[in-house]
Amino acid sequence: MLCNTLNITPETGEISGECCICKKHTETGFKKKFSGNFTCADYISTGEVICPECQYLVKNSNEYRRTMFLLTEDELIKFKKKEAKDIVFNLPNKPFYIYLTKTWQKIGWIRMNEVYNTSNDGIINFLIDYDIIHTSMDTLKKHYDNIHILRELKIPKTVLETGKLEMHHFNKIKEEFDMKTARKFSKYLNSINNNPVYDLALYLED
Ligand SMILES: [Zn+2]
Repeated sequence: MLCNTLNITPETGEISGECCICKKHTETGFKKKFSGNFTCADYISTGEVICPECQYLVKNSNEYRRTMFLLTEDELIKFKKKEAKDIVFNLPNKPFYIYLTKTWQKIGWIRMNEVYNTSNDGIINFLIDYDIIHTSMDTLKKHYDNIHILRELKIPKTVLETGKLEMHHFNKIKEEFDMKTARKFSKYLNSINNNPVYDLALYLED
């Protein structure tokens, strides 16, 4: 899709086989050869060639690992962390891929073929560095709204990362709302350990 959107005709090679990145069969592939900074051997262990489209990505790897992007058939939108929230909550209702990064250097795009979305409805596949997150937008929004409320109460991001509320944070929620709400949030934060969707929502909130 990337090459189509950007109107690029990738160079072709002469080897046929299964592409180690997108797993598609190609008749015009290249020899599988990666430079030392490709540290993701797990994702490219099957397949013996690289297809022309993926070869283009490999060549331009530095560009695509140092940005977040939204790719549709019409355009490639690159964006920064502070724009991520707007992009994520306004996904297009047509086929797309979305890539986010926390490291700005991992070559997560290598898993792009696993995160195709047909529309903004239902379960969305996000790729964040090497991690794939499947979630409905409702679930993500719910976490995001909860986090937003807690951040408005000046509860530090570090506390929200661990989910361990201190007494004075608990009291803050109680003062702002009531005891029931404070207990609800406390219980909620106890439940979000190792929840990748919550982590994504927290990442989007700044
Ligand atoms: Zn390929």
